[in-house]
Amino acid sequence: MQHTIKPNEHGPLTEPMAHAVQTCVHCGFCLAACPTYQEFGQEMDSPRGRIVMMKQVLEGNLPWADAQVHVDRCLGCLACEPACPSGVPYRDLISPFRAVAQTQNKVERTTGEKVRRWLAAETIPYPGRFRWALVGAKVGRALGPIVPGMLRPMLSLAPGEVPAEVKLKAVYPAQGERRARVALLAGCAQQVLDPDINVATIEVLTRNGVEVVVPVEQGCCGGLSWHTGDLAAAQAFARKNLDAFPADVDAILTNAAGCGSAMHEYHLILKGTPDEARAEAFRKRVVDVSVFLGRIGLREKPRAAASGAGAVKVAYHDACHLANAQGVREEPRALLRSIPGLELKEVANGHLCCGSAGTYNLDQPETASSLGAQKAKAVAATGATVVASGNIGCLTQLKVHLAQSGSPVKVRHTMQVLRDAYRKE
Ligand code: SF4
Ligand code: SF4
Repeated sequence: MQHTIKPNEHGPLTEPMAHAVQTCVHCGFCLAACPTYQEFGQEMDSPRGRIVMMKQVLEGNLPWADAQVHVDRCLGCLACEPACPSGVPYRDLISPFRAVAQTQNKVERTTGEKVRRWLAAETIPYPGRFRWALVGAKVGRALGPIVPGMLRPMLSLAPGEVPAEVKLKAVYPAQGERRARVALLAGCAQQVLDPDINVATIEVLTRNGVEVVVPVEQGCCGGLSWHTGDLAAAQAFARKNLDAFPADVDAILTNAAGCGSAMHEYHLILKGTPDEARAEAFRKRVVDVSVFLGRIGLREKPRAAASGAGAVKVAYHDACHLANAQGVREEPRALLRSIPGLELKEVANGHLCCGSAGTYNLDQPETASSLGAQKAKAVAATGATVVASGNIGCLTQLKVHLAQSGSPVKVRHTMQVLRDAYRKE
């Protein structure tokens, strides 16, 4: 698409944004893949419509405020990328656009929105604070109607019980002969909402001869800040991790798709800063745990999906930030298929986001809830007793919506399914 965006007019992120705009040929193949186009049924809430709007804003031909509602409604799920025959790197446009809009103070929000966003930004990336926030949410739920409306989406997503804290060690030695050494991102929300995911991941890796380092100084991946337009915070988190992760490991592993995807974008987050080259080198070392296990192969074969007779049906839910953002679809499925007695089920319309999308379910609760309900229905329709996925946001959203629909389907991380299979006699 022709454009008149001036080079560097919006800082170092102008160039990737302009490139994404230029690559779009306006064909519309992406529309069918977009969950918000499905929900709202209008061009402005489709990838193509948003690209045109963002282009016009960046050119100075449309007020920022006119685009904001539609840019806010974008899940950042990136389902539009694999659907696009021209290879438009939509991710190079949406998050940079939000960052530029916020940095230039173009974003207008109500006081309620500001408070909710501030609360999310000041709690979720910090496990200690987040744990206390979840305890507070429990009290808030008990107070019911007197809680301000803007906080209710947060309360409805908070788990009924907060799991006990699990303090991870700095190093977990490989069992048997060591085949590799990796560093693991513990994930800030994940280690509070379901600390067993890291326990399972470490057990699977060490059983397969991998030494796991958990850098003590690591912090949030920065994804929450990046996807909500807080560039300064995203840069600070990214720099902290650039410093925290050691160089002498074979890979930097993530087991939360959203975190992995954000770390893959460190070169964008730090574009035009002295750390850009370091970020570029760093992101190439980041890999999802399922991909790493696929690379090295399972040395220890999983025993069984369950005790007793009959296959256990497990549905696999593609987290958008694993499937679309990192192109990881087959590796987790291959791990699940390797478990004897496990029958893998596909979820209909698997390309549609579950509505979690970072803090989307807090910021756009109606759309998120509609998508969550659809996903829960599609999961239940597979006839599976377990649904596996590789992202804490999706797992939380699935838990909430499966429970709301009265479904007994259990929600597990792929690594938990694999670890449980190892433990079966
Ligand atoms: S990122 Fe998702 S919601 Fe946003 S335009 Fe692309 S497909 Fe639509
Ligand atoms: S499919 Fe790609 S090129 Fe076509 S309108 Fe969508 S983003 Fe643009």
